[in-house]
Amino acid sequence: MQLYARVVTDEPTDKELDYSIPESCIGKVHVGSRVKVPLRSREILATVVALVDTPSVTEPKLISALVSDTPILNKSLLALARWMAEYYCCSVEAAIRSVLPQVIRKAELGFKQERIVSVNNEISEEGLQSFRAKAPRQAHVLQFAIAVAEPLQWRELQMRAATTDRTIQHLVDRGFLRVELETANRDPYANERFVPSTALELNSGQKQALEIVVQSVKAGDSRPILLHGITGSGKTEVYLQAIALCLSQGLSALVLVPEISLTPQTVEHFKMRFQADLIAVLHSHLSAGERHDEWHKLNSGRARVAIGARSAVFAPVQRLGLIVVDEEHETSYKQEEAPRYHARDLAVVRAQLDQCAILLGSATPSLESYQNAKTGKYRLVQLNSRVDDRQLPLIRVIDMRQEYLKQKHVPLISGSLANAIETRLAKKEQTILFLNRRGFATSLICNQCGFVCECPNCSVALTFHQGENRLKCHLCGHIALAPRKCPKCSDSSIRYAGYGTEKVESAVQKIFPSATVARMDADSMTRKDAYRTTLQAFRTGKIDVLVGTQMIAKGLDFPNVTLVGIINADVGLHMPDFRAGERTFQLLTQVAGRAGRGDMAGEVYVQSSTPFSPSIQFARHHNFEGFWEQEIDFRERCDYPPFLHLLMVHIRSEHQRRGEFTGETIHRRLSEKLDQGVTLHPVVPAPIERSKGYYRYQILLRTKSIRRLSKSVRSIIERLTFPDDVHVSVDVDPYQVL
Ligand code: ADP
Ligand code: ZN
Repeated sequence: MQLYARVVTDEPTDKELDYSIPESCIGKVHVGSRVKVPLRSREILATVVALVDTPSVTEPKLISALVSDTPILNKSLLALARWMAEYYCCSVEAAIRSVLPQVIRKAELGFKQERIVSVNNEISEEGLQSFRAKAPRQAHVLQFAIAVAEPLQWRELQMRAATTDRTIQHLVDRGFLRVELETANRDPYANERFVPSTALELNSGQKQALEIVVQSVKAGDSRPILLHGITGSGKTEVYLQAIALCLSQGLSALVLVPEISLTPQTVEHFKMRFQADLIAVLHSHLSAGERHDEWHKLNSGRARVAIGARSAVFAPVQRLGLIVVDEEHETSYKQEEAPRYHARDLAVVRAQLDQCAILLGSATPSLESYQNAKTGKYRLVQLNSRVDDRQLPLIRVIDMRQEYLKQKHVPLISGSLANAIETRLAKKEQTILFLNRRGFATSLICNQCGFVCECPNCSVALTFHQGENRLKCHLCGHIALAPRKCPKCSDSSIRYAGYGTEKVESAVQKIFPSATVARMDADSMTRKDAYRTTLQAFRTGKIDVLVGTQMIAKGLDFPNVTLVGIINADVGLHMPDFRAGERTFQLLTQVAGRAGRGDMAGEVYVQSSTPFSPSIQFARHHNFEGFWEQEIDFRERCDYPPFLHLLMVHIRSEHQRRGEFTGETIHRRLSEKLDQGVTLHPVVPAPIERSKGYYRYQILLRTKSIRRLSKSVRSIIERLTFPDDVHVSVDVDPYQVL
């Protein structure tokens, strides 16, 4: 029996410290246990990462308390945390902080205890008789409880018998009623009923895909399977049946979905197919109590299917048989705060550690994953047709340059798109209009002096929101009143330039006054259930035209939608980001995929002023392979991923000079210390130079061996000290380059 525990404290250091285990706790402290330990003059929380025979110090201090009896970090999650720290350039402590949700780490919250009231059976009939005369109100409650004939929650009894706490308490004191404490599950879906669904008969493509996944599950083979299936090809059904197999083998499954598609619809699919309480759902809208309970449901093995967004890659699923990453190309899998991990990539590592199967699914795989499939690192499975051989929608590209020639301005909605909407309205079919930009106008510009209303904290223009008559910054949230006159020259010819979803909504309403138009974006969806009610209204046909941002781009399946309009395909295409083309192709394909999912064929109108750009043309012809070939060629020629790894050092400070100076210092040190095979680029201001009041600088590095680079960058930066007001962070495999 080992007498010493090696711990990582909840402090941002990477030292592993040894403590001795008090006699009373010997045998109870395991790897993964949470403990309290003395450090200098304080007591702090820590995680046990190893048990050792001989401590590294001569007189280790005693562990002061054991916080949780059962280890809450199993070996493979601990290994995942260590891998993450090394790869993503962060401390083990920071990695553990990502792995364990705060509510579990701090162990401040326990299970919810509920008071359950039942009737004490030993009451005599006579006792009851005389009681009625003495205390009629209590007798009424007692009679009610007897009639119900089963234990009730205290609150429920109080409400249903229309009585008070005091009356119930009197009955308890007199021994008529009994109270017991029971652990209650805080279930975020407690009030919902799920109609059971049964497995569908698979088509031959789905069968083949399933067969391959099943083989991997049975063999515990962690070689990733990339399921490239076009929109509407029935990928979800393959996931469901593969998970059913896992369950039948006594194994569990983990399903990752982008936060955006954690709609009630997705969760419903799973809760309907499997016993609802076998499923734990993890996402950012849970209360701390709900998160605590869902987490423990998994850790104890009571729940065996975990569904969640990014951070669910750390869900404490026991006996993993399969990990599914749906929409694996989604950039929301990348965490944009330290530690900046990518959940899909971590899922691939976790599958290796847990020796389980892993399935990555997408209609538009990322270049990285598709390249891995091409080189044989992943196994490629394709679904090339929609279920029931439904047609992919016909995509028309509207050349907005022609519209400009005709009308001398670029209209928001071209004549042909307006006609198409009109036809749908007449036929009672539905339309989705997509624009990846919120607000009414993207900027407020003075015609006289050219003044643009900019955010005081960020180097971007403020967006005008008509509904609230406010200017808002989409980076930092700054809000200002919209001026009537130019703040600089007082001219009143200030006008709105550009447009967002809010303006699209009002333009459509103007053209079609009798149509019901609704909008779905981060501004209109602030109420908790707005998302659900809007989708419900759309599903039941109460909305004719739904306008939205990427919130409506993915995963939605509405059979009556026969028209999708993309208002401006050029938004995002011409950003200074090497992934801009890939993102545009993915977005167009996904949005187009919302059309024609029922019995009626779908049509997509793509408005663009650069209709010749390859992302638009390949998307138009549903040609993933073609897009991939030209894009991968570009990446290879320009030394971008997946051929090389990128690493970005971010520097930000409220003081421009100090930020820049720090950047130069880091750059100098890097250039002295780095080995060959690393390309080091100069310090440059970020494309968005100022954000949230900080000046931003960045240093880009490229390499073939990222783990080596990551390690040396970390040790170089750790040895430097920076001014207090300068923040330095490292992003490995960055997605955000603006
Ligand atoms: P994807 O995720 O690939 O875009 P979905 O999984 O949403 O596609 O499937 C599209 C639709 O086809 C869903 O309504 C689903 O219920 C249905 N579906 C899937 N597989 C089958 C099948 N084998 N037979 C009949 N319908 C199916
Ligand atoms: Zn701002």
